Amino acid sequence: MTPYDAIPAQAVIRPPNRLIDGFGRAVTYLRVSVTDRCDLRCTYCMAEHMTFLPKAEVLSLEELDRLASAFVDLGVRKLRLTGGEPLVRKGIMTLVERLSRHLANGALDELTLTTNGTQLAAHAAELARLGVRRINVSLDTLKPDLFRRLTRGGDLAKVLAGIDAALGAGLKVKINAVALKHDNAEELPALIQWAHGLGADMTLIETMPLGEVEVDRTDQYLSLADVRRDLSSFWTLTDLAYATGGPARYVRVEETGGRLGFITPLSHNFCEACNRVRLTCTGTLHTCLGREDASDLRAVVRGGADDAALEQAIFAAIGAKPQGHDFRIDAARPAVARHMSTTGG
Ligand code: SAM
Ligand code: SF4
Repeated sequence: MTPYDAIPAQAVIRPPNRLIDGFGRAVTYLRVSVTDRCDLRCTYCMAEHMTFLPKAEVLSLEELDRLASAFVDLGVRKLRLTGGEPLVRKGIMTLVERLSRHLANGALDELTLTTNGTQLAAHAAELARLGVRRINVSLDTLKPDLFRRLTRGGDLAKVLAGIDAALGAGLKVKINAVALKHDNAEELPALIQWAHGLGADMTLIETMPLGEVEVDRTDQYLSLADVRRDLSSFWTLTDLAYATGGPARYVRVEETGGRLGFITPLSHNFCEACNRVRLTCTGTLHTCLGREDASDLRAVVRGGADDAALEQAIFAAIGAKPQGHDFRIDAARPAVARHMSTTGG
């Protein structure tokens, strides 16, 4: 038992959520990209020779804490740290420790991370100690050679060791895989079976046209409707009511007993329940993954704004959250110029 388990839910008095957008949706989930850097170069995510941001443009740990905490104070209940690779950000565990105060006082329901897992073996126990309960690990293949090619040099063994460490530390693990027509389409059933065998949930993601990369994503695009149909030919998939307010739809695979999610960002059907916004490592708030809308909160913070002025800037951005997005995988150029590694997945 940790200090975080000791707070009974009914003991926490929650002020009403003040982050309601123009369409009446409450924003309860903030994803924070803590760095644009990464130790891998997944082909669908980054160009091989990425130009990373100058350090001065990236928010300091203090600024990240201040901004994320302002959202928590206004009603955000779930924080996800992402990137780039969050675990390569220097001082990341200090940030996790600071943010964990919101778990300890009951303001936050969940503090979590999306990681490529390469550094997880070193950090899993500490994350668990700080109150992280669940973690998403991105992994598209269990074949070492394919992993090396897809990530341009990554070592699968490190990720597997990271997943082991996370499970050993008592973290719940969800495996995320991008469905790639030519690379892992045939391996997906084995990947799902492996994840479920570990007691992990599994989520499949469609490729999204975010940022210029060298590969042709139209060519790698695999419709999850087709994947689902294929899986249904040998497994029984039972729809689950489980929903996160995001673009994932979940089923239980009766044969493995595990939960499987399908994230189809190109479909519009989740926008009406969208509860999330994203903060980049440069302090830009994007209220919709699929649009170019942006509010510069770094300018507000670095301009010396007090807490009230920062709140006003956040309200203004949330008030302008678009109703829905605009993705098309077949468009000649990416629908959105920024990379996923900048926005945070
Ligand atoms: N580095 C961490 C990781 O890989 O988990 C966190 C950041 S990464 C940008 C978050 C997620 O976005 C990963 O699951 C990755 O596979 C996914 N992703 C990156 N580029 C994508 C794209 N163009 N389409 C769909 N998913 C993408
Ligand atoms: Fe790095 Fe994650 Fe992008 Fe892969 S998907 S290059 S691990 S940020």
